[in-house]
Amino acid sequence: MEVITAKTAGFCFGVKRAVEKVYDQVNHGKKEIYTYGPIIHNEEVVSDLESKGVKVLESRKELEQLQSGTVIIRSHGVGKKIYQMIEEKGLELVDATCPYVRKIHRIVREKSEQGSQIIIIGNDTHPEVEGIKGWCVHPAIVVADRMQAEALKLPEGSKICVVSQTTFNYNKFKNLVEIIDKKGYDIDVINTICSATEERQLEAGELADKVDAMIVIGGKSSSNTQKLFEICKANCVNTYYIQTLDDLELYSLPPVNCVGITAGASTPNYLIKEVQKYVRNEL
Ligand code: SF4
Repeated sequence: MEVITAKTAGFCFGVKRAVEKVYDQVNHGKKEIYTYGPIIHNEEVVSDLESKGVKVLESRKELEQLQSGTVIIRSHGVGKKIYQMIEEKGLELVDATCPYVRKIHRIVREKSEQGSQIIIIGNDTHPEVEGIKGWCVHPAIVVADRMQAEALKLPEGSKICVVSQTTFNYNKFKNLVEIIDKKGYDIDVINTICSATEERQLEAGELADKVDAMIVIGGKSSSNTQKLFEICKANCVNTYYIQTLDDLELYSLPPVNCVGITAGASTPNYLIKEVQKYVRNEL
């Protein structure tokens, strides 16, 4: 039995950095540690941190009610108002916003200050997009699909700046930009898609294509893991989506010669290792 694990499986640079920042606070004996939203889309990691005293602030209201402590901003980033609120309340701030996301914040702030209408290609309700919107001087327009791109209506010659949610699919981004580009605006397109996602997806697809069965590890609410699963399933019918090793034990995997493993950006290394070991020993 051969087991091939994708090199890009698991934490990307931004998520690794954010999780390490939380554990750093814990290891330095800090009390009253809060993350603004779950630090990553992984229940295992979030509950391990909870057992070490790290609480999750689920909403802006919960942040408003906080009197003391350290607030950690996750890799998705937040809008300017949240930074202001943390400062005004005298809370300690640990900023784990991914530098790639911070770069988008800078772009949209500068471009909107210079008078451009910001168009964000992405999912309007995603926390990263929420955060990006929060750095625009004027309200941004979010475009998620073809219909919305076609419906976009601004005065001819308008100065617009198009950026993307970091995890958006590149081909979809390109298609939507093409639609917007035909409308006669003064358009400035800045591709802010993070290559970590693209590389992980490419490698997963290639791997799924050459193995007999494929295992995708990641949280059920992680959109990047869901995408990985779709890509792998399209290339390998025997593709399994699991959150932990327990889920894999429930499946009766067919006898195969070669198994591929990949994992979403929020999947910790120890989970990948556990699955690798199990597959090597049990199948
Ligand atoms: S996917 Fe890219 S942008 Fe998002 S946290 Fe990871 S490294 Fe940063």
